Parts: sequence; structure tokens; C-alpha cells
Amino acid sequence: MYQYAASITKLIEQFARLPGIGPKTAQRLSFHVLNMSQQHVEEFAAALLAVKEDIVTCPVCYNLTDVEPCRICSDESRDRSLICVVEEPQDVVAFEKTRDYKGLYHVLHGVISPMEGVGPEDLKIKELLKRLGNEEVKEIIVATNPDVEGETTALYLTKLLKPMGIKVTRIAYGVPVGGDLEYADTVTLGRALLGRQEIT
Ligand SMILES: [Zn+2]
Repeated sequence: MYQYAASITKLIEQFARLPGIGPKTAQRLSFHVLNMSQQHVEEFAAALLAVKEDIVTCPVCYNLTDVEPCRICSDESRDRSLICVVEEPQDVVAFEKTRDYKGLYHVLHGVISPMEGVGPEDLKIKELLKRLGNEEVKEIIVATNPDVEGETTALYLTKLLKPMGIKVTRIAYGVPVGGDLEYADTVTLGRALLGRQEIT
């Protein structure tokens, strides 16, 4: 049986390890790389390495950043009484695009999911509690996705935070149930934020 040369097979295997890339797409992308100019391939490889070298998680909010603490945490003009809790760094980008939000963030890096064996201890929840001890936080906006895992996580956080005397709100308005915040449009997200309601 005819097989690709070893280096081509290796590249196909690497592409196939990426999320959402099947064997056919992996093959197509690999041949695309073969047809790219030497300079383009070098830039591509350098970008892959640079992102691993330059990007760290912010020691305060756990967003991805190239400076510590991140630009949002160190911005003096932001409202330090508000923390918006999100699942992933991509959600911070989505909220920043709305330009409606001037508070801080906290990135959990996931959601509670018993099905996938993810518990509260696997998320940046301890780190959130630690922040509340240091900072003058009055309100926590829970902006996890409106699906089962997101709601479970919101409930867990509410039970934890309310006894500490902190107002806990949930974005609700306009975000479709089961939807993914990352893909919600900017106007919808802005409204979701403004229309947030206290969890009682
Ligand atoms: Zn930060």
C-alpha cells in the first residue's frame, strides 16, 4: 500500500490532533503547508512557538496575557467593585467587544461537569475566593454559558458567595439557552450584561 513520506504523515497527524479537524482536513492542510513559501512556513512555525513562550495566565484573574498582571487588572480606570466570572479567556474578549463593561474579570478555565469528571476544585474558584478577601468587591456577575454545566456552576458559585455578603447576579437577557457566549453577537451580550438579575 502506498504511504506518504514520513514527514508528511507526521504533519497530517499533528493537524488531526487539533479540535474539529478530521483526517481529510488534516491531509488538505498538510498539502497546503507543502505549497506555502519557505518564509510563510517559517512565520507560521514561529507564531506557534511564540504563543507558548509569551502567553501566561494572569496571576489575578487567570485571563491569558503577555504582561503580569494583565492589562485589564492593572487598568486603574476599571471598576474594582465588579467581577465578571467567565468560563474561558475567549469570553473576556467577547465582553470587551461590547464596550459596556468596565469592571474586572475572573476566568474559571472550565465549568463544573460531573459527566466529564470536572469538579469545583479543577476550576479557578479557590483563586476567586482569595481575590474577594483582598479586593473591595461588591458584585459578582456570573457569566457562564446558559447550558446545564454553566447553570450548575452559577448555582455552586451563588451558594458559596452569598453567605459572604456579596451580591451575585446572572446575565440572562437575550442569550439563547444552550448557546455559547463566545458566539453571541456583541449587541446581545451587551444587553445580557445590562439586564443581569440578582440570583436569590
Ligand atoms: Zn488579570
